[in-house]
Amino acid sequence: MTTDTPTQPVFSLELSEEQRDLRDWVHSFAERVLRPAAAEWDEREETPWPIIQEAARDGLYGLEFFAKATFDPTGQTIPVTFEELFWGDAGSGMAIMGTLLAVSAINGSGTNSQKGQWMPQCFGTPDEVKLAAFCVSEPDAGSDVSSLKTRAVRDGDDWVINGHKTWITNGGIASVHVVVASVYPELGSRGQATFVIPAGTTGLTQGRKILKHGIRASHTAEVNLDDVRVPFDCLLGGKEKLERLEKARSGESSGRQDAMATFTATRPAVGAMAVGISRAAYEQALQYAKERVQFGKAIVHHQGIAFTLAMMATEIEAARWLVRAASWHAATGHPDARKLASMAKLKAGEVAVWATERAIQVHGGAGYDRALGVERLHRDAKIYTIFEGTAEIQQLVIAREISGERIE
Ligand SMILES: Cc1cc2nc3c(=O)[nH]c(=O)nc-3n(C[C@H](O)[C@H](O)[C@H](O)COP(=O)(O)OP(=O)(O)OC[C@H]3O[C@@H](n4cnc5c(N)ncnc54)[C@H](O)[C@@H]3O)c2cc1C
Repeated sequence: MTTDTPTQPVFSLELSEEQRDLRDWVHSFAERVLRPAAAEWDEREETPWPIIQEAARDGLYGLEFFAKATFDPTGQTIPVTFEELFWGDAGSGMAIMGTLLAVSAINGSGTNSQKGQWMPQCFGTPDEVKLAAFCVSEPDAGSDVSSLKTRAVRDGDDWVINGHKTWITNGGIASVHVVVASVYPELGSRGQATFVIPAGTTGLTQGRKILKHGIRASHTAEVNLDDVRVPFDCLLGGKEKLERLEKARSGESSGRQDAMATFTATRPAVGAMAVGISRAAYEQALQYAKERVQFGKAIVHHQGIAFTLAMMATEIEAARWLVRAASWHAATGHPDARKLASMAKLKAGEVAVWATERAIQVHGGAGYDRALGVERLHRDAKIYTIFEGTAEIQQLVIAREISGERIE
């Protein structure tokens, strides 16, 4: 072999030492802080402020963790840490991580100066934690984000926003609301823009708090926008974004759509949350199957139960690696990133619903008892086939990507 032979990069699925340390640190937080309090916050159905504050004090809730996770060039820090956090508890996990949807939108669409101004305000400080909300969905625009009715109209140096948002994580209790609104409704998604509504802005109010099936520690509410007036600079992307909107109006290509770009980046992360719930259910079911004796032996020795556990382990592994592959595609800007993001979210959500239902079955009647928390995992899992694009919408995205056809 000659000495000038180029060295081939070594292929590895191993995590780096830093990624392993972060994963283990989040796992210990989940085990120590989230797990013991999960049932209580689920029953209370309130925002677990003390837990968010503890996450902030530990450095898990804040800009530093967001930057470390988001700018990992391999894309692996988010899936491995989110899996651990949501293994601990999905309700409090979402209370901690819900803010990241808005932060990701600012990071994806904002100018550097907007990022510097708004991203720290989304988190507040460990002594005074704040939340942020990403407001897209409306009563008549859920899956169909192109049909938003919320309007943003230019008025001198300001924007005036009117509309009604629903199903908003942290809606009304957030300090920073990031709102997607239509500037030119006739253009659908291409006429939309994203605006930051600062804390205390007149006209933004919380509507109905929505009482939910699962992830009950995460606050979800309607948000009313009545003549909300914000300065021009609250338009994410600033003048450049305005130019893109004007181009779209004059019939020229305006480039990417803000809401869709954000969803593509966040779907693998949401899939990782679902993997965490699945794993919690699987571990609990395995443990129970080894302890519970029926017909003279531990139920794990009945093949029907053992095979169920084998399939749970296999499906969870498949979901985990699809999520990690999707995160890598997203982090490296791979042309297949959008397709993989939808595949990962779809698979992880469906596996979570299925695996948590199987975990109840392995527990028999005990699985139906709220004291054991297995039924909570099943309730928490269901949201993963609904938000960040329903299972059907993920299939729509995948079908369009693989066919190149405009499937409706
Ligand atoms: C707990 C929770 C938190 C949320 N947090 C946020 C948030 O922070 N910010 C935010 O903006 N939104 C949020 N959402 C909203 C969420 O993104 C929407 O609920 C979701 O996009 C689905 O919209 P929809 O509920 O209006 O259902 P619809 O769009 O009305 O869908 C109803 C059914 O029709 C199916 N369907 C619709 N269109 C098609 C099609 N073309 N082909 C096949 N099937 C189709 C759907 O898959 C679904 O099964 C949250 C929702 C929940 C439940």
